Amino acid sequence: MTALRRIVLNSRPQGVPTSDNFRLEESTLPEPNDGEVSLRVRYLSLDPYMRGRMSDAKSYAPPVPLGGVMAGETLCEVLASRHAGFSTGDTVLAATGWCSHAVLSGDSVRHADTHGAAITTALGVLGMPGFTAYSGLKIIGQPKAGDTVVVAAASGPVGSLVGQLAKLYGARAVGIAGGADKCRYVKETLGFDAVIDHRSPNLAADLQAACPKGIDVYFENVGGAIWEAVFPLLNQYARVPVCGLVAEYNAPVSAGHDRLPAVMSAILRRSLQVRGFINYEFTDDYFSTFQREIGPRVAAGEIKYREDIVDGLDNAPEAFIGMLSGRNFGKLLVRVEAD
Ligand code: NDP
Repeated sequence: MTALRRIVLNSRPQGVPTSDNFRLEESTLPEPNDGEVSLRVRYLSLDPYMRGRMSDAKSYAPPVPLGGVMAGETLCEVLASRHAGFSTGDTVLAATGWCSHAVLSGDSVRHADTHGAAITTALGVLGMPGFTAYSGLKIIGQPKAGDTVVVAAASGPVGSLVGQLAKLYGARAVGIAGGADKCRYVKETLGFDAVIDHRSPNLAADLQAACPKGIDVYFENVGGAIWEAVFPLLNQYARVPVCGLVAEYNAPVSAGHDRLPAVMSAILRRSLQVRGFINYEFTDDYFSTFQREIGPRVAAGEIKYREDIVDGLDNAPEAFIGMLSGRNFGKLLVRVEAD
């Protein structure tokens, strides 16, 4: 009998989530039926989109029901398989949610392939966050040599790859991050050309100084005060892949003054392309190209990434709450139990 531990949504947060919004439940892992696999979760990926799933506001994906397991992608070991595609001991990616074990249809899981890089990159730089950076930047941002590309949350899994790819494509990369340690990492380890601390009281002036030729691609990860600082600097024909708005997930910060007419007018006058996207729009056409292009560069150490690994499923709620205010430094993963 294998114990199954899972974290469910106990209540919907009002503003910043608290530990009371989560509940740990324990039961017994069922045996797999024909076509199913039984899984032990090794690593759980914590991602900002999960804040949206905790709310029942209308969105691009359905909310987690009250009492339902928190949604999430995991890296798992196959304990037992009744599906022809998998054997005991395989390492697979699955949408088990926040739990220690699961039984799922074998058709819903897939083998993890990281081209020789650490297996955890399947949830980070070579997984959904990395693909988000790659597809949003290449397909929507379309950086050209000499362009200035700006991205915030620049030390995280999405932003760190956006900036490194911008450099590979011959553009100038300007990162925005919170605090001296993250800024140093973005400039010295990731190799961005310039970095701005968004906690600076002079954010707008600092950004203007770092972008003397304006901004050609703004990869929007954050919204709020950063968008306000970026917007006046967007050049004619600038592209804005709208990837995420993490500053607004806990509470909309745009209330107060309505800048929408000014924004719409500038979109018209400067012929800006502002395009929202969710990474899976591009999966079928581009995911394998992404892995072939980026996988070997990650394995060779040419593309850098950083992980922030928290031990124990019980610590997932606190780690997730911290990520929404920038306490993580790198791709946030939970090592569900010791290997
Ligand atoms: P990160 O690991 O970078 O974590 C989020 C980071 O956001 C924090 O570490 C913090 O970094 C920053 N942040 C939080 N609040 C603020 C704020 N008020 N102002 C400025 N920065 C803030 O996250 P990811 O790389 O996983 O995700 C980045 C963005 O991409 C998110 O908005 C996410 O929702 C979005 N996303 C979108 C996808 C899509 O398909 N469209 C898919 C995956 C992610 P710091 O301390 O540097 O401020």
